[in-house]
Formats: sequence, C-alpha cells, structure tokens
Amino acid sequence: MATQKEFRMIEHVDYFKVADNIWYLKDIFVNIYMIGNPVDKTWVLVDAGLKTTAKKIRSMAVEIFGENARPSCIILTHAHFDHVGSLKELAAEWNVPVYAHYLELPYLTGQSSYPPPDPSVGGGMMARMAWAFPHGSINMNDRVTALPDDEVPFLWGWKYFHTPGHAPGHISLFRLHDKVLIAGDALLTTKMESFWSVMLQSKILSGPPKVFTYDWEKAQASVNTLWMLEPEVLATGHGKPMRGHEMRLAFNQLENEFEKRAVPKKGRYVNHPARANATGVTYIPPKPFPVKLVLISSLILAAAAAGLISKKKKNKFKRHPLKHHHN
Ligand SMILES: [Zn+2]
Ligand SMILES: [Zn+2]
Repeated sequence: MATQKEFRMIEHVDYFKVADNIWYLKDIFVNIYMIGNPVDKTWVLVDAGLKTTAKKIRSMAVEIFGENARPSCIILTHAHFDHVGSLKELAAEWNVPVYAHYLELPYLTGQSSYPPPDPSVGGGMMARMAWAFPHGSINMNDRVTALPDDEVPFLWGWKYFHTPGHAPGHISLFRLHDKVLIAGDALLTTKMESFWSVMLQSKILSGPPKVFTYDWEKAQASVNTLWMLEPEVLATGHGKPMRGHEMRLAFNQLENEFEKRAVPKKGRYVNHPARANATGVTYIPPKPFPVKLVLISSLILAAAAAGLISKKKKNKFKRHPLKHHHN
C-alpha cells in the first residue's frame, strides 16, 4: 500500500516546457524552473516557490527525471519569500547545495532583512497586501554558497548576470546556444500589480514587481543588460514565457520607455534607493508621509478636538452639581 508520501510523489502536476531541457511550473502566482543537462542526465532546480510548492516540485521531478530524482543543486535568482518558500525543506531532503549571488547571502543566512516593501507605489492587490509579505530572511547557513565568479555550477553552456534593483543579489540565467533567458523578477511577462493579469497569466511584459523593488536606477540598468543579450526566449519569475518577435517588440518597448512603463509615479524608493552591500542592507530611505495618512490623521485630530469640546461641556455640566453639593 502506498504511504501518503508515496501517493503525493505520483500526484500529477501541470508543468510546461520552456525550451529543450527547460521546464517550468507555476504555483499559485510564482514560477520555478528545472534545467536538465542532456549529457550526464543531471538537472538543476531554479528557485523554490512558496511553501506549497515542495510537493509539486517533487511530482514534477519524478515525472521528468524519474523515481528518486534529485537535482545537483538549487540556484536562486533571488531570495524573496515567494522564491524560497520550499527551499529549506527540499535542500535538506535532497541534501544538495544552494547557490546564490554573494550579495543575496545576507538574506539567506539571517544576517539582514530586505528593505521593507513599499505599498505606496500603488497598483492594486500586491500593494494592498504588501503589509503581509515577509521581507525578513531565512537561515540556510551551512547549505548556501556564493556563486563562483564566472560560471554557473552544474550547468554547462550557461552564464549568469548580476541584475540588481529588485533584490541586491538578483541574478538572471542565460543559455548561450539558443539564447534562453531566465530573468527571475528583473522583469516580468505578467503585470504583478494586476490580480487578473497574474491569475489569467495574460502576457504583458512589465518591469520588476514594484512593491519590492528598492532601486529603480539599478533595475533599469539590469533590464538594459538583459536586452543587450538579445534573448530569443524570455522566462521570468511570474507569468508565462514569451518568445520571438512578440517578446522582442515588448522588451524593446519596455527597455526604451522604462521610466514610463516600469517605474512607479511615486514611492519610497523612486528618488531615494535603499543601499546594500555584502553584509546586507546599509541604508533605508525614510518612509514618505502618505497623503491618505495626512487626511486620516487630520480627521482624527478634528474628531479628538470635537470630543474634547463636548467632554469639556459635559464636565462643566457635571461640575456644577458637585460644587453645589460641596457648598
Ligand atoms: Zn522578487
Ligand atoms: Zn517574485
């Protein structure tokens, strides 16, 4: 009889092919990628989704690579909560190393928290829910290693590029021979700020998710770096892969008009980026005082003032009989 775990292992999951030996799976709203090495039949997991993604990743691995499939390593584009949800569990279970850019390590070793999310960028669900997003760090201490300078471990024919702005140690992965780009959250093929765009997976090329992007100048430079690679296939942390002419047209537009299409009109980090180094975040700009709050606080002040007046009146009224009593 199959144990519950074995049953979970053979549960069918929907995953999709991006290109030869590259597959992706979408869990709720975030993607993970599996990359195979055709030569030696090994494979690598890119990002680790949400907490709920672990069992789907297991099933997907079994379906693609067979029973007891285990990757050579896990590579992270960055360590935001929606990309590391199942990391601890899977890395321990498989007993495999985890690689990230050295500037991302502080958020994987409990050394630093990310700059806080910025709900003032506006834009629907994501901004409204920002308060609920964890921006702390998980602790992968002895298991996480900095990526070597100029190669991607266990992936031949790939290069990685440092693409900060959305996260300090954000990287994008690029396969040289067919120009497949896995860009993490450096740019997206969906509009993260639109609930329906995320749920229906409509293909809209957009900048990095606004709520978490801490440096818009760096984010723009990163998009430029990726555009210069002239990718043929673009696969990102959220949304369906885009390719060919359709993708190039949209990418060119985003790259040309980044300020108009990607940068929020207002926001904590728009004119004052947060700063980070190898020890973590070193500077966070002060919180802007939001207009809504000004309105609310003046209402509260007005209400309090009105309350004081009526209280005074009441007290006056009360005091008289008391006075009278004492007299
Ligand atoms: Zn992110
Ligand atoms: Zn993300």
